[in-house]
Amino acid sequence: MSSMKDLHTGRRRFRDEPEDFTEEFLDETEDLEIPGIRCPLCKWRPRTIDTWVCWDVEHPEYFYGGCGTSWNTFATSGICPTCLHQWKWTSCLRCFMWSKHEEWYENEAG
Ligand SMILES: [Zn+2]
Ligand SMILES: [Zn+2]
Repeated sequence: MSSMKDLHTGRRRFRDEPEDFTEEFLDETEDLEIPGIRCPLCKWRPRTIDTWVCWDVEHPEYFYGGCGTSWNTFATSGICPTCLHQWKWTSCLRCFMWSKHEEWYENEAG
């Protein structure tokens, strides 16, 4: 059985590995988290490679002109680049709940 204590011990075992190994790995990957964006409900942080699809949505957007475009909605502040629909709501790709687009932006004061 593993416990929190076991995990901690296991981690210390690897401290001899060079620390720059992790940084090098992160440099090569393109799926970086988008700074300042997170799901207001589950705190999931979307990455630059994540995409949303412009399609018909009932609650809560009530939009019936979906054009099928897939793009990163945070690159355009929620505007579909093809049909220019301004999405007021954005669904989370992890918890699948809808939140207002502006609520995805972290509030530094909050
Ligand atoms: Zn979520
Ligand atoms: Zn569209």
